[in-house]
Amino acid sequence: MHILMASSEAVPYAKTGGLADVATGLSKALAEAGHDVTLVLPLYRRFIPEQKRGEPVALMNIEMRQSTVKATVRRSLLSGTNVEVLLVDQPTFFDRRQLYTEGGQDYPDNAERFIFFSRAVMEIAQTLTRPHVIHVNDWQTSLVPALIKHERTLGGRFINTGTVLTIHNMAFHGQFAGWQMELTGLPKEYFNWQQMEHYGHLNLLKTGISMADMVTTVSPTYAREICRPEFGYGLDPLLVQRGDRLVGILNGVDTQEWNPAVDAHLPLSYSPATVADGKARCKESLQEDLGLYPRSEALLLGMISRLTDQKGLDLITARADEILQADVQMVFLGTGDRHFEDALKALQQRHPGRVSVRVGFDEKLAHRIEAGCDAYLMPSRFEPCGLNQQYSLLYGTLPIVHAVGGLADSVVNATPETIENQTANGFVFYDYNSESFVDAVWRAVGMFTHHRVEWEQLVQTGMLRDSTWRHSAGEYVKVYDRAIRLAA
Ligand code: ADP
Repeated sequence: MHILMASSEAVPYAKTGGLADVATGLSKALAEAGHDVTLVLPLYRRFIPEQKRGEPVALMNIEMRQSTVKATVRRSLLSGTNVEVLLVDQPTFFDRRQLYTEGGQDYPDNAERFIFFSRAVMEIAQTLTRPHVIHVNDWQTSLVPALIKHERTLGGRFINTGTVLTIHNMAFHGQFAGWQMELTGLPKEYFNWQQMEHYGHLNLLKTGISMADMVTTVSPTYAREICRPEFGYGLDPLLVQRGDRLVGILNGVDTQEWNPAVDAHLPLSYSPATVADGKARCKESLQEDLGLYPRSEALLLGMISRLTDQKGLDLITARADEILQADVQMVFLGTGDRHFEDALKALQQRHPGRVSVRVGFDEKLAHRIEAGCDAYLMPSRFEPCGLNQQYSLLYGTLPIVHAVGGLADSVVNATPETIENQTANGFVFYDYNSESFVDAVWRAVGMFTHHRVEWEQLVQTGMLRDSTWRHSAGEYVKVYDRAIRLAA
């Protein structure tokens, strides 16, 4: 099967979150399973160095609101794979300091930038590759299924090309002023409540949800949750309408990147058999580098995250002082909302040597935190899939999570029963409030301090979990097959 994967981010080119890991991890797994995969991305000049840009293969002219926007398409291979990468080079749109947002403000021309990118993807599908399936991701590429559907009505083109939209986070709709519709090049008839319009605005995610042949999201639980008003953000009725064309598939993990047995970022690599020594060394070196007291007995809690409301930081900041009354240390790595950054920095000041906060994006430190911590905090309010709890499991770091989305699908709460049947791998709380959160943390502290044998059993269960992309990629291929059948 020839698959065109369109994404606004992908590792190792440009990343703000999980989408980047998925675009690459899934593309690689599909290629390993024998499919032809072309990954299409914007060429963000500040993030993608010359040597990774490849060779120019095409020039493109796209009419947008009476002017012609030019772009160059450059071709290379994803390092170590046979995934073809096509980068759309349009400096006015993509030579920016950030991907979408700067100084807390979205770029004012985001509609233009990503409508342009989606139209470039369409052009590539028409002229450079002949995909059987076009897989788009989130609002940034959600216009593509509409462009394809329109082409199908014109003369039978793309009747054998299925379209699949994956929703990585329902909270971001790509909603813009209604007049931006003209940038899409589509007839005005599509600007209606069932397709592209949402309360007078152009809503790109809605466009994809209503017009893709199949819609997926990144965990089975999240697929059910987004059909309800509290997680569907107004698009839940439309998702309900899509019925069994909405499918939840849990993301895999790129185990070439995230594997403690071969992780070059760690002072000592380790496997399930050597985890005790490996983690002890990683913990010691993390404590030393971050200025924490060198206490192996302290339960070291970690968190690597966008610092936003989604991630449960209100629960953490409300109860951290109380949790720190126990023999606990905390390390935070992240960027995001100013008030959370400030609250965490204040926490660090109140607990020198016991709390470390790094504001920034740091891939190497992220790996060292996963390895060096004993437990991982992920009390997200909502979580479509979540990658860090999966990395934590593989690194023998027990996740403490809210039972929501992909967290509910990957973490098994430690109870007498699940410990007995050896499925327990972490600590789960079920109601989103700080009491339940603190209760889960106390359960972790209690087991770490008094029941080390059980703790070690949970570590082993987590590390041995199969989280490779191979299984999920197989599920996506089934979705692609259905999309192709539905297109015809
Ligand atoms: P989301 O996509 O909602 O941000 P995920 O858990 O699905 O959350 O994925 C987040 C990804 O981004 C993980 O790979 C995580 O390690 C990484 N990440 C987030 N913040 C940072 C940071 N400050 N430094 C390094 N990596 C980060």
